[in-house]
Amino acid sequence: MKYIPTIGLEVHVQLNTKTKLFCGCKTSFGDEPNANTCPVCLGLPGALPVFNEAVLEKAIRAAMALNCDIHLFHKFDRKNYFYPDLPKAYQISQFDKPYCTQGSIQISKEDGTSKSIGITRIHIEEDAGKLIHSASEEENVSFIDLNRAGTPLIEIVSEPDLDDPEEAYLYLSKLKEMMQYLDVSDCNMEQGSLRCDANVSVRPNGTNALGTRAEIKNLNSFKNVRAAIEYEIERQIDLIESGGTVVQETRLYNADEGVTKSMRGKEEAHDYRYFSDPDLVPIEMTQALINQIRESLPELAAAKKDRYKSEYRLSEYDADVLTQDPAIASYFENSVKAGAPAKKAANWILSEVLAVADNRTLAEVVSSDSLAELINEIEKGKISGKIAKQVFQELLNSDQSVKQIIESKGLKQISDSSEIEAIVDQVIADNTESVESYKAGKQKAIGFLVGQVMKVTQGRANPAMVNKFLKEKLSIKNNNFK
Ligand code: ADP
Ligand code: MG
Ligand code: ZN
Repeated sequence: MKYIPTIGLEVHVQLNTKTKLFCGCKTSFGDEPNANTCPVCLGLPGALPVFNEAVLEKAIRAAMALNCDIHLFHKFDRKNYFYPDLPKAYQISQFDKPYCTQGSIQISKEDGTSKSIGITRIHIEEDAGKLIHSASEEENVSFIDLNRAGTPLIEIVSEPDLDDPEEAYLYLSKLKEMMQYLDVSDCNMEQGSLRCDANVSVRPNGTNALGTRAEIKNLNSFKNVRAAIEYEIERQIDLIESGGTVVQETRLYNADEGVTKSMRGKEEAHDYRYFSDPDLVPIEMTQALINQIRESLPELAAAKKDRYKSEYRLSEYDADVLTQDPAIASYFENSVKAGAPAKKAANWILSEVLAVADNRTLAEVVSSDSLAELINEIEKGKISGKIAKQVFQELLNSDQSVKQIIESKGLKQISDSSEIEAIVDQVIADNTESVESYKAGKQKAIGFLVGQVMKVTQGRANPAMVNKFLKEKLSIKNNNFK
């Protein structure tokens, strides 16, 4: 490798508080434009912001998950710039006294190793509104929706510790997983509650000083983050190789074309003229509050994964997949609570339930109670594993219970010994060739005979009983033959 890439991410996470950062307006998504606004978030003259304490708890939970130093004293600053979706012409943010600094996050790499990525700082700030540009030529207008204006965000700034697009992807996934776990954010990228800017540079292998970076904006999916960084690394290497120099600038990613394009250079960069917001008092937190929040933290994914391995004896892989998403983890735990053996529940979730989940929640696919009931029907020998898959398909399309489906479709396992014995006799009589080859020492032939019994019973015969009868009868015949 002739060049070494370096990546640092700035991630905006929308906190899922019910109301905005400095007013009582709702933060819900998709409401009638401008319905959730008031003089404060509309930036009307004379309106005064009031800090929403619920923000503090969420922000601190995030800081704790990312092992940050939390500062009891922090304050808000005005970041001045004009944009039509920013009615006050300044954004309230935190500049020189953010609420936390110096954290880290562990990412697990594909090759089984893990790596610590530094967090420079996290600060609290308000979101801007949204511009909606009309698509038609005749109606050449833009609309402003200020429902999002004043929504609380935290901005998480990483150290330039990421070495490739894959690490950037893993870092983002881990962040998302943690924020969801802690109920800090829904991290819905389509709705903009998780947004990422990527800073990318390259330097010749063997040198230490970092190269000049470009900042890429507009990365609205995990896929785009990876693709944009990949493209940008290539672009910078090609540029240097052809005798050019990388300039510090902001670039936009165009997903349709798969390229990044210059948006503004360093000379056009804003001077935000930061100063402390005179309308807001600094925040002074007590250590008691911090301790109280720490005690309320739920179990994090890494701890949960370890517990699944020790408590439920799940494999590394199973525990990993089940704890990736808190919704999957709680579905799994609910299935176990409803009586399903843990390993069996894990298998069913990983192979069957997740396979059909798409955009639905797992409980919408099949409730955890039904899954547990289904698994227990197999455990009790009422149905075979194969039939259970059939019942599972039925569950997807009907509101009948597991027992009702088994009854109404006649899927119940045949465990009546006289019934099975009769079928086994019939199969032995009908398949003399296989019987002969079994007797001649071809052990495998018994598999064919079992298959025939299953065919006659449409998979409903109790496999253990079928095997038992077949072996008994064939060995008796074997003896007679001798
Ligand atoms: P700004 O506020 O102008 O975006 P920061 O100093 O806050 O500048 O840096 C923003 C991000 O850029 C951080 O995530 C940091 O890790 C990253 N970064 C800084 N220098 C480099 C570099 N040379 N290459 C890649 N990323 C970098
Ligand atoms: Mg930046
Ligand atoms: Zn408001």
